[in-house]
Amino acid sequence: MTVHTLTVGDMGTNAYLVAGDDKTAAIIDPGGDGDRLLREVSRHALTVKAILLTHTHEDHIAALEQVRRATGAPIYVHQDDACGLTDPEYNLSIMLSGMPLPPIRNAVLLEEGDEVLVGAMTFRTLHTPGHTKGSVCFACEDCLFTGDTLFRESIGRTCYPSGSLPILLHSVNRLMQMEGDYAVLPGHGAPSTLNHERQENPFVNGTF
Ligand SMILES: [Zn+2]
Ligand SMILES: [Zn+2]
Repeated sequence: MTVHTLTVGDMGTNAYLVAGDDKTAAIIDPGGDGDRLLREVSRHALTVKAILLTHTHEDHIAALEQVRRATGAPIYVHQDDACGLTDPEYNLSIMLSGMPLPPIRNAVLLEEGDEVLVGAMTFRTLHTPGHTKGSVCFACEDCLFTGDTLFRESIGRTCYPSGSLPILLHSVNRLMQMEGDYAVLPGHGAPSTLNHERQENPFVNGTF
């Protein structure tokens, strides 16, 4: 498995292109710069089989429709965040860009524990509400894609619709209790590891 990270859009969102050895791939959070994302797909001769969303804020879905149209891949989103695909207040597009994002329909709805199979890769859904009510992390092999739930030495904001700090802290704590170590690949900023966050994240060890 190879992970290509592209930082896209105005908010510095990390979109991840996750490729299996058989050249099938998943795209996580196509948050902008759709042309660049699709160029990267063809540069590596990949076939995109799934588009996974950690949540539906505009900075994670702005290039979603373009990428879906170009790849024909199904969109996977937690059932509690699917509302953001059609609600410009929930997905912040009115607030962030002043332009409501056109509604996106026909996504596959996920719940806790659901697995998305992409070639030989399995993405396991962990429902981690708090940044939004339907935020998820995806675990695949030794990688954990954490969206805006967990950042390197920080956590996501909770000031948006359906956000809740106590719920987010509970979700982050749950991630820390996963067995073993993972590479943490967040929705913004630098990568980390679960062990690093267990020691250095102020929201984990109660020093914030
Ligand atoms: Zn967000
Ligand atoms: Zn974000």
